[in-house]
Amino acid sequence: MTSRVIIVGAGPGGLAAAMLLARAGCKVTVLEKQSQVGGRTSPVEMDGFRFDLGPTFFLYPQVLEEIFAAVGRDLRREVPMRRLDPQYRLIFGAGGELLCTSDPERMAAEIAKLAPADATAFRRFLADNRVKLAKFAPCLQAPFLGWTDLLQPRLLAVLPHLKPWKSLHAELAGYFSDPRLQLAFTFQSKYLGMSPFQCPSLFSILSFLEYEHGIWHPIGGCHSLTRAMARVAADLGVEIRLREPAEEILFEGRRAVAVRTPQGEQPADAVVVNADFGHAMTTLIPNRLRRKWTDAVIARKRFSCSTYMMYLGIEGRYDQLQHHNIYIAADYRRNLEEIENEHVLSEDPSFYVQNPCGTDDTMAPPGHSTLYVLVPVSHQHPNIDWARERDRYRQVVLRQLAKIGLDDLERRIRCERVITPADWENRLGIYKGATFNLAHNLGQMLHLRPRNRFEEFERLYLVGGGTHPGSGLPVIFESAKISTQLLLADLGNRSAPLGM
Ligand SMILES: Cc1cc2nc3c(=O)[nH]c(=O)nc-3n(C[C@H](O)[C@H](O)[C@H](O)COP(=O)(O)OP(=O)(O)OC[C@H]3O[C@@H](n4cnc5c(N)ncnc54)[C@H](O)[C@@H]3O)c2cc1C
Repeated sequence: MTSRVIIVGAGPGGLAAAMLLARAGCKVTVLEKQSQVGGRTSPVEMDGFRFDLGPTFFLYPQVLEEIFAAVGRDLRREVPMRRLDPQYRLIFGAGGELLCTSDPERMAAEIAKLAPADATAFRRFLADNRVKLAKFAPCLQAPFLGWTDLLQPRLLAVLPHLKPWKSLHAELAGYFSDPRLQLAFTFQSKYLGMSPFQCPSLFSILSFLEYEHGIWHPIGGCHSLTRAMARVAADLGVEIRLREPAEEILFEGRRAVAVRTPQGEQPADAVVVNADFGHAMTTLIPNRLRRKWTDAVIARKRFSCSTYMMYLGIEGRYDQLQHHNIYIAADYRRNLEEIENEHVLSEDPSFYVQNPCGTDDTMAPPGHSTLYVLVPVSHQHPNIDWARERDRYRQVVLRQLAKIGLDDLERRIRCERVITPADWENRLGIYKGATFNLAHNLGQMLHLRPRNRFEEFERLYLVGGGTHPGSGLPVIFESAKISTQLLLADLGNRSAPLGM
């Protein structure tokens, strides 16, 4: 008999799971509470301008390519994309710039302009991390179902590289003597919403991934990926029901058997949750039923930072900007301390600006361009009242943008949207507004992260940034591969499209 699977949420994780399960012959229904697919990877559209709501860096397309291939499609045909070179420009508040490229010779020359003594370290960094990633990749591709999985050969092989006592920043200080270069190869921990001074050293593989496999821009924006996934899923027979929120997951004993929506009870042989983990647990499953991940336990977990966002439709173009531009505050440590521990707003914040129209003119009307501005800030905390800060902080951000040459910006803005951590929490259903989910410290990784086959209930699975391996598109796609394999095995389905 055909198995019925309900997926709660049409984010990248939910859509990838839908494709794989439909290919394996399941009858798949995706419930999405918003009016469009994509979740944090959906578009923001206004007055003919188009932005990505969240992701703008597409790293390591190989995982999604594999998923498309498994369902008989070619990702590159469905979504044309360009590898960016230079991949980004770093501007240091402390002085100096670095135009980062994956061409080792040009990159060594760029590094030499900042710190001649560090120029040769780049190749050593690449060589060491190539080995590290090769050892760790199997851990990202397999489930962690309990502590005994830590004893498996794949993890034992990576232990010498794990160095749990060492932060990412301390690790990079072993390569580069110039503090700006240490930051140039560690700020990527912000992709996980973490400080490089606290993030495990293991995550040097993130900057390595950029240099080794490139940073890609899907034409139209990263949301072109989720749109294509929804299109392919629909072709495979998946029913995607927009504006139909899950209200409760229903159980018989400890087994998930249905999802209740405003349209009634939807029976299922298995349920996959893609909605933000903290939000889904605290709203879809009564606290009394949860033994391990109770409301109180979730509230005590460490969460990632949040973001203050500005989406700006601009008259003309800023050709002096690269596609990706990152400003690192003069006192970066202080900036991170304010975000992660003091939960106050920085007056000299680091920020990121995407200026995609030089690469992709589909995102703005002729003669115009878009700027996407992201400022990492604390997740929701009583210290910050966004109803009061929203407009004041806009002025702080405009002042920062003037530091990288955008001093005439305000008069060129033709349309604008701002999203604060309060919006992420209240409008987009993200627990504490922590845009990158649970933090990725060692105490919340591998078997200690909420598991793909959710440990509390039968026939309930998680996909997306809240489960193993973690936040960020490539690993979210890995989570879909892992969770669907487990689900299909539990249902006795032998036609899994991808082997583990
Ligand atoms: C500002 C920002 C920038 C980012 N930048 C990058 C980047 O450059 N590169 C990168 O790789 N990653 C980036 N990420 C991280 C990550 O890739 C994205 O957040 C990604 O979209 C997360 O995917 P997900 O599958 O976990 O689900 P989500 O995108 O969170 O989607 C979950 C879906 O579930 C739906 N939902 C929630 N509750 C219910 C309910 N009760 N019923 C039905 N549906 C429900 C939501 O509406 C949503 O559509 C960024 C994230 C943010 C926020």
